[in-house]
Parts: sequence; structure tokens; C-alpha cells
Amino acid sequence: MCGIVGYIGNRVASEVILKGLQRLEYRGYDSAGIAVINDDIKIVKVKGKVNMLVSLADDHNVSGHMGIGHTRWATHGEPNDVNAHPHTGATGKFALVHNGIIENYDVLRQDLEQKGHMFTGETDTEVLAHLIEEIHEMSDHDFFHSVQQALLQVEGTYGIAVIHKDNPDRIIVARKGSPLLIGVGENEHFIASDASPIIEYTKKVVYLEDGEMAVITSDGYEVSTLKDVLLTKEVHELAMSLEQIEKGGFPHFMLKEIFEQSDTIADCMRGRLMVHENRIQLGGLDGVVEKLANARRVIIAACGTSWHAGLVGEYLFEYLAHMPVEVEYASEFRYRQQLIDERDVMIVISQSGETADTLAALREAKKRGAMVLGICNVVGSTIARETDAGVYTHAGPEIGVASTKAFTAQVTILTMMAMLMGRETNVISDDYMRKLVKELRSVPAKIEEILKDTSDIEAIARLFTYAPNFLYLGRSYNFPVALEGALKLKEISYIHAEGYPAAEMKHGPIALIDEHMPVVVIAATDHTNDKMISNIEEVRARKGRLIAISSDGQSGVARHAEFNITIPEVHDCMTPLLTAVPLQLLSYYIAVNRKCDVDQPRNLAKSVTVE
Ligand code: GLU
Repeated sequence: MCGIVGYIGNRVASEVILKGLQRLEYRGYDSAGIAVINDDIKIVKVKGKVNMLVSLADDHNVSGHMGIGHTRWATHGEPNDVNAHPHTGATGKFALVHNGIIENYDVLRQDLEQKGHMFTGETDTEVLAHLIEEIHEMSDHDFFHSVQQALLQVEGTYGIAVIHKDNPDRIIVARKGSPLLIGVGENEHFIASDASPIIEYTKKVVYLEDGEMAVITSDGYEVSTLKDVLLTKEVHELAMSLEQIEKGGFPHFMLKEIFEQSDTIADCMRGRLMVHENRIQLGGLDGVVEKLANARRVIIAACGTSWHAGLVGEYLFEYLAHMPVEVEYASEFRYRQQLIDERDVMIVISQSGETADTLAALREAKKRGAMVLGICNVVGSTIARETDAGVYTHAGPEIGVASTKAFTAQVTILTMMAMLMGRETNVISDDYMRKLVKELRSVPAKIEEILKDTSDIEAIARLFTYAPNFLYLGRSYNFPVALEGALKLKEISYIHAEGYPAAEMKHGPIALIDEHMPVVVIAATDHTNDKMISNIEEVRARKGRLIAISSDGQSGVARHAEFNITIPEVHDCMTPLLTAVPLQLLSYYIAVNRKCDVDQPRNLAKSVTVE
């Protein structure tokens, strides 16, 4: 959450920073700001999207060759001009941008107030700006050590970038819990929360770890710990390309990402689904396969859409490998009685690899001796680095705040992991493996088929654009897809929606059904379909508006529903990879009809780096 960009070099800093903030805007977009040094510190900040900041910056003279910028997702203090970052202390000599939460800000603030500091806003971040200034004014500490001393007093999480009027040749950055990387160029350096703002300038990056600080100048960078121990950092080469983070002719990132799914799933399987050899090869799990197969139980920890992918994973591991699995909200796991130890294996799932709650669950599990495996999209992310082993989804950058292609890629990885485990535990025979491999391989082409003609889905979306509520029902592998479908609709069209296991409907939600209630029924798994038809009839008897997702072979379903969205047939356990797609499109088209901001839905942000 929140995007930080910084630049120092020969270019016009504001141009690099503002463009970078636009690329990072999916991380937070309630306000934005920039600070550059050109003799003096010049700050421009405003409530609203980065575009507002761009026009405001045009009116002010923000020239200069070094500076920092921020796009905010408010945690403390309402989104307004004053609470927008960068923040300064009383003298205005320092400017600071921050991602995270200073948990002891209240105590620090009271202390600083007693020392005469006056605050203009309500953010936790402003307190840190004043603290740095106080230390600098009242001690012999130089710029770097003033920041360092302030951070030693801080509890909570931060990724920060600080500039100081009297040291215009350097930016100080530090990280604890919120991602930050340094882009290494020729006589210029960049800082950013993730790589998207800098790939058009350089592919060389250095990832800061928790507890590290750095001094960035145009000629170089020096990384050290908060205790002044100098570090030698590895320079990584980025694999992502510029066009991956642009819209490529689509009106929204979300639609582009939905349409990318046949490719992203194929990419995800490349070199892993070994068709001729009839096996799965997941290089990232080399050396841990046996331990995973013998785990007393597998705990999948994740949040949001990744949690839904985890629920699909539970069915997959149980069915294909007969392994016991529990799926936990990462945020709940860490505060429960910790009954996890070295006999268990945790799998954490996070698109960004930075999700704060998931990271906390991972650390808790590791502390108790469990092996932790990761499924992440962002290469080099904190979770990817901290897990014992793991598999990347290779879905490419996901910019749309509502996750789509990351979900199907996560499910693809979980399917392959479950197949691999099924072989390891001898649940899957040679022949059955051949069938599964063939089926999984057919998925990208089947997604393409769904995407070839979306007119039915658009028509249904038009009809139900103004429905105030939606119900989603699914069974077995598609119960998590029902949850995911409902979440997509809530996220981007602000329509209240609930997902349920279909049989649960009669235990309560059925009371909601009347002639105005659209009920989306995912009836694509053969072994539960007869029961689904009964559920459909129950809805029909109460005049609910039935929208079914079913496959070609399930004409029974199509005959019972008012609307039917047909998907190609595939093995039951792989149906979530197909059924998710029409539900993503349904929510997308409804949101567009309602004129919602699809890529940047209100109150949300991607990459949830606060707890
Ligand atoms: N806690 C800070 C604020 O509310 C930073 C939030 C963020 O990460 O954007 O301003």
C-alpha cells in the first residue's frame, strides 16, 4: 500500500517522480505529493489522484534534479491536502514520505508537543518528520544519523525516503516491513516501492531488507543496518518489461489482465507441466517435495483473493494427494493459539509477496519450526525471499486492484503442486496422471474460447447493473469461486454480494431470494451437479433470477436456469480455472456500466502492506 518514488541524477526529477507515481498509483490513490530540492525544498501535494498532482505541479515550479514522491492509502488521518505526504517538521528543512504505520506515534507526538512542536495534520508520518528534525536540531547527528536515531525510537512498520535541504546530494531511505528498492543507473539512482516506475530507466535493482538503511546519491548508494554495519548488496536484474505494465489498447488494466489469462496460465505451466514425461517439475520445490508430502498437515495462509485460491488448493490437495489441509486467513492465524510445529508445512500465497498479514503468519510459522513455502507473483518480493522454498506464478505485473490473472495463476500452481504430491503419495496412478496432465494443458485454449465471445456476459451485466444484491452459489471446487465472484463484484461495482456453498443456502440466505435477486450458480463440477440442479430449482421456486455457469455437457443446468454462461468441459478439479473467468467479466461489465473506477476502486489499494 502506498507508492514511494525518488530520483537523484541529471534528469528533471519531477518528471521521473510524477510518471513513477502514475505507475504506482494502484498501491494507493487518495492523495499524492512530491518534494524536490532546488535551493530550497519545494512541496506540492493534494487530495485525489496523481493526475491532480500532475496539473498542480505544472502550475508550481518544481524543477530540480532530486526529489521524492508519494501516493497515499490513508491509515491515520483522513485523506486531505494536509495529511498527504511528503511531510515536514517545523523548520521545513526535511521532507519525508512513508509507507506503513508508526504504531507509537501518539506517545512520540505528545513528547514532541511538550518540546514545542506544532503539528498540522493527523498522520503518524508527520510525527516521524518532526522527530528527525528534533534530533537533528538538538544533537550533533548528521542527516543520516538523525534519521537513524529517529527510527530507533519508532515502533511499527515503514518504508521511508527523506530529503534534507542542506544535503541536496543525497536521499536517505530505510525499510522495516514495507517494500523499497533502489534502481541503479549511470550517474543516477532511483528508489521505489516496486519496480514498475523504474524499469524504463534501468533493470538493475537492489532490494532493501528489513532493518536496513541506505544513502542514495547520483553516483552510488551505500546500504547499512540501523546499527551502522555496512552491507554489500546483490544487484538483481529485473525480468519485467515496460509493455507488461501498460494497458496495450484495453480501456482498463483489469480487462487486459482478464484477457491475458490464457497466456499467463500457459506461462505458469511452461517448463513445469512436462507433457511427454507425464510429470510435474517445480524447480522451486527441489529438495522439499518429500517433506511436503509427509507433512502432518498443510496450512495455507493468505488474504483476500489469494485466500480463495488457497481454498481451491485445499480441495485439490485432499482430492489429488489425500493430504490434510487447513486454510487460514493470515490475519487470524497469527493471533490464534499456535498449534504449528516442525511436522507441519505452511504454504503462503500472495500476489505482491508483500502482504503484511501473510508475512506475519509466515514468520510465526517459521519461528515454530514449520517449513514455509511461498506462491508469489512478484519476483524478489519479501515473502518470496523469506520462505524456505516456493513457486512463482509468472503472471506478469498485475496492476488492476481487483486481482484476476494472479488468482488463476495461483490456482494453476496449486493444481500442479497437488498433482506432484499425488504422485509422491502414490494416490495418482500413471494413467490418471496422463489424463490430468492432458486436461491441465488444455486449459489455456479453453480460456481463450470463453474470451472469444463475451456478448452473453455483457448482456447479463446490462440487465443486472442496478441490482442492489447478488448471491453466488457453488459446490466443491467451485465454492471458493463463488466467494471470489462475490468479492470481485463487491470490490469494483460496490454491489453487496455474498458467496455460499450451495447447500448452505437453505440454512439462511434463501430468505433473501425474491424476484429481484440475481443468483449466480456455478454448476460446472460433474460430481455435484445433480445436487446443484436441486438448488437451482429451490431458487427458481422463489422466483430468483438464475444465472448459471455450466459446461457444454451439462445441458441439465442450462435448461433450469434463466441465463446460462457456457464454458468448455474440463476435469472437475480444474473447473475453477474456467469458471472464474466469466465471473470476473460479469463484475467488470457491471462496474463499467455503473461508471465505477474499475482499476482503482474506492477505499482499496493493491499490495496490502499494513496489518
Ligand atoms: N500511515 C501513513 C498515513 O496514513 C502512511 C500510509 C501509507 O502507507 O500510504 O499517511
